[in-house]
Amino acid sequence: YINRQNAMESNVRSYPRKLPLAIAKAHGCRVIDVEGKEYLDCLAGAGTLALGHNHPAIIQSVQDVLASGLPLHTLDLTTPLKDAFTETLLREFGENYCLQFCGPTGADAAEAAIKLAKTHTGRANVISFSGGYHGMTHGALALTGNLGAKNAVNNLMAGVQFLPYPHEYRCPLGLGGEAGVDALTYYFENFIEDVESGVVKPAAVILEAIQGEGGVVTAPTKWLRKIREITQKHGILLILDEVQAGFCRSGKMFAFQYSEIEPDIVMMSKAVGGGLPLAVLAIKKEFDAWQPAGHTGTFRGNQMAMAAGLASLRVMKEQNLAENARVRGDWLQAALKELAKELPCIGNVRGRGLMIGIEFVDERKPVDHMGAYPADAELSLAVQKACFNNQLLLERGGRNGTVIRLLPPLILTQDDCVELMAKFKQSVLDALK
Ligand code: PMP
Repeated sequence: YINRQNAMESNVRSYPRKLPLAIAKAHGCRVIDVEGKEYLDCLAGAGTLALGHNHPAIIQSVQDVLASGLPLHTLDLTTPLKDAFTETLLREFGENYCLQFCGPTGADAAEAAIKLAKTHTGRANVISFSGGYHGMTHGALALTGNLGAKNAVNNLMAGVQFLPYPHEYRCPLGLGGEAGVDALTYYFENFIEDVESGVVKPAAVILEAIQGEGGVVTAPTKWLRKIREITQKHGILLILDEVQAGFCRSGKMFAFQYSEIEPDIVMMSKAVGGGLPLAVLAIKKEFDAWQPAGHTGTFRGNQMAMAAGLASLRVMKEQNLAENARVRGDWLQAALKELAKELPCIGNVRGRGLMIGIEFVDERKPVDHMGAYPADAELSLAVQKACFNNQLLLERGGRNGTVIRLLPPLILTQDDCVELMAKFKQSVLDALK
């Protein structure tokens, strides 16, 4: 299957290069390939499958749509199902917000959010952050930091300014911890005041409360609060990209809630559709500057995705999956930190809930000014491959892919965690051989 597929598909394919399997079935946290081999899935559709594969509530919700005679998609026309989903999702934000359905995928949410911020403010520029990831379409890619895919494309959306994102382990400015946060905040505020007094006033600031693709980097709560304060003061819209960190993955419904801030726009995709394609914005009503039909798109009414999204939200609440993500995540981080004492090639373990990053380093080289060893891209790739051989699926992120990322389903059990750790330890040892 793999060779046949490779011959038929564009060179653009990505995951099959590192995870060469043909999938036959999946359930819960498990994926089974065509040869009957079972894998523990810590990729979960790139963080989409919060409830794991083929959760009975999701299957039932989709089957109900199919049996009900509802159209499969309805543009942006209303159905009772859409009404129920909208009401339930909106409850997470409160009455000051409205929702915009903007297409099937995360990049659609980025495009709509930026376009809305530009429409509302009449301004052209956007501030984004180093290490941020917002998608692969022209606008979303322009907002994405540090990615090889950008360099190959000429003429992306203009007017994006990048500022450094706090990184307590490997801060690009050499600023870590509390002092680093203060310095970055100071820099941010001065930058905003400078551009405010010039000709390039930014329409929006876009960021992830936990950078996923960027290598699982968590924004310090104090920094995020300060960003909120400064953007509010200057009438700049704050867009929180919760495409990956949202929907209980971080241990809260949304990762920005750790900072107790109110964003102006929240981007949702991945888990919002319960594993089916859907992208939604939550918009503070005062910034809902669209003219009627000012942003359209055919696939804004996927009824199966809305049914699955509704089922998923219900299960998240009933089973308190935010709490499960927090408890399992804390246990895994503690176990990984113990392992790092034994294996110094594990330089840093970080994240929140079930969004965990493990940065690999070369401890035979000298430390940098932060006291950290240089990152080891070769080793992290070797670990990912060894994990695959040990039937553990996961992805890497960060600059040059030096960070192994865990994004398992949020239904992960304690037994799964123990198995995950055993497989991971064995894989690191295999990679070091
Ligand atoms: N934002 C974030 C934070 C993401 O992680 C991703 C996908 N990894 C996107 C946006 C883009 O989503 P999509 O791939 O569905 O376009």
